[in-house]
Amino acid sequence: MTITILPVKGLPLIHEGDNLPELISERCMLEDGDIVSIASSVYSKSKGYTRRLADITPTERAQKIAKMTGEDPRFLQSILDASKDVILEYPFILSEVGGGHIGVRAGVDQSNIEDEMVILLPPDPMSAADEVRDALRKITGKDIGVIITDTCGRAFRRGQTGNAIGWSGMKAIRDFRGDTDLFGHVLKITEEAVVDELAGIANFVMGESNNGVPAVVLKGCERWNGHDNLYFNRKEDFIRKALCVR
Ligand code: GDP
Ligand code: MN
Ligand code: MN
Repeated sequence: MTITILPVKGLPLIHEGDNLPELISERCMLEDGDIVSIASSVYSKSKGYTRRLADITPTERAQKIAKMTGEDPRFLQSILDASKDVILEYPFILSEVGGGHIGVRAGVDQSNIEDEMVILLPPDPMSAADEVRDALRKITGKDIGVIITDTCGRAFRRGQTGNAIGWSGMKAIRDFRGDTDLFGHVLKITEEAVVDELAGIANFVMGESNNGVPAVVLKGCERWNGHDNLYFNRKEDFIRKALCVR
């Protein structure tokens, strides 16, 4: 498989109301089978999923966490408000957000936005990916996959990587179970999280600071079969169970 990865260059600073699919498709040649990867930060800015810290009144819980972490209680409140289930409060809030993603500080960002503002993750990232895909189909007439990414920390290893938080036009996981290896052994376990691998390389091309590249086009990804059960259910997720000792 030969994959070409192209940054979408020249996108402006994104604000609420901007038509991201239009802005992207004006700046690249999209073909059937391409995958467009978009940073959740710009998707959220285009939809107004942002908050002004001055508008937030912290609850007692946010104030209690602020005493432990030293963070702004209003920032912590925006994280608590975005969380469906809080797994850890300290040394950082770790929580489940819309769609099933579990993230440090609920993926709330204070970077790449004006001072005293925060960017929230899209509350329904799967619908967001569907919506962008439909819009790209209407504009270009092409069948294009979409991945919405966020830069995330991970357990056990230092360093953040891009993760897929929403996707459309592909399966999250390539299922190798039942395939035979080079020696004829039947694979019993291997499910490859392809959406995260593609989000990882797209995130590398985007950069994290002032690159100004919130969208990337992947060309040449061969199709794969599998399923969308990217997130463990509560029963399977023994690390989450181990963390939830309260
Ligand atoms: P996240 O990974 O979704 O949290 O997004 P980041 O804040 O890491 O940004 C990813 C990329 O998009 C970086 O190259 C940023 O410079 C760029 N970026 C963020 N916001 C904007 C914007 O409004 N316009 C443009 N052109 N680039 C942006
Ligand atoms: Mn982010
Ligand atoms: Mn990032």
